[in-house]
Amino acid sequence: KDLPEEWKDHQLTVALRIRPLNDAEIEEGATTVAHKIDNQMVVLMDPCEDADNVLRANRSREKTYMFDVAFDYAATQEDVYVATTKNLIDGVIAGYNATVFAYGPTGAGKTYTMLGLDSEPGIYIRTLNDLFTAIEDSTEDLNCSVYMSYIEIYNEMIRDLLNPSSGYLDLREDAKGEIRIAGITEFSTCNAKEIMALLTKGNKLRTQESTAANKTSSRSHAILQVAVKQKSRVKDINEEVRVGKLFMVDLAGTERASQTQNRGKRMKEGAHINRSLLALANCINALSEKGGKGAQFVNYRDSKLTRLLKDALGGNSRTVMITHISPASSNFEESRNTLVYADKAKNI
Ligand code: ADP
Ligand code: MG
Repeated sequence: KDLPEEWKDHQLTVALRIRPLNDAEIEEGATTVAHKIDNQMVVLMDPCEDADNVLRANRSREKTYMFDVAFDYAATQEDVYVATTKNLIDGVIAGYNATVFAYGPTGAGKTYTMLGLDSEPGIYIRTLNDLFTAIEDSTEDLNCSVYMSYIEIYNEMIRDLLNPSSGYLDLREDAKGEIRIAGITEFSTCNAKEIMALLTKGNKLRTQESTAANKTSSRSHAILQVAVKQKSRVKDINEEVRVGKLFMVDLAGTERASQTQNRGKRMKEGAHINRSLLALANCINALSEKGGKGAQFVNYRDSKLTRLLKDALGGNSRTVMITHISPASSNFEESRNTLVYADKAKNI
């Protein structure tokens, strides 16, 4: 099924969220170097503590970056959800696939945006709530069911975050050429509180280990997969009329191996994470070429992440990337790297 014309120019949305300064940053005397200028533009100022470094001092100390939408400390969870993800819902119900990514270094706010807190729920819960409401309000003669699963990809291995005792799971291609995770738990409650509890519990099972740069750095990608399956109510044959899939992905931290002084096991993790992030970057770059012309050159097989998302990246699906940075001077280098990457995703 072809993507409606009006979506074709908005197949990829790249957003930026700058979280508030946190207590630790304030305590260490960090200043704010990332500012939102308007709804699309942010500026990053080089704190340039090294005044003797003539080369650096002579470079422009301010750089601006453009996004489809930019948020700062003042943005609420609802603001971010409405401007990035809410308008994907109708498409998923209509049988189109979509993917939402949280991208950025550890501590920049990815999990806050996607999962959030009980008091400040994030995109997962807001999306599911609106999805359930939209299905309830639907006047179509369809029986609709929503299936969810929550997994992590760590070192190119897949684990069920709702049933970790099931060990590592495999990706399989079914007869229709669709990718499935063999043995995955699917749940289909529409009780938001229950879902939040399940996801919060699952999130705690994610592989998090300390590195030199971060006390707890998420080394895994967490993926909430939502499938909306609809069957005709009038016909008694139980034929599936349409399926729309939505992937919501809390990516592993993008901090660099050199920064975290990774050695041995950490180094290997880093290589795997970079492999899936690189594969993902290639996919997104291809998508951002007008009309998705580059998509045919994408090798989805390069990583588990891109294999799993194959049907929901490019083609007739929509993608939202929410980039996250800290506003603090102490995180300047990391923020600059992140902004450069996100900027590329948009402008190629
Ligand atoms: P990441 O998942 O990218 O490693 P987290 O989402 O865990 O980062 O955020 C790190 C900390 O900062 C958490 O304590 C989180 O609650 C807090 N935080 C992140 N973003 C925001 C925000 N926009 N507003 C308030 N607190 C935030
Ligand atoms: Mg996290």
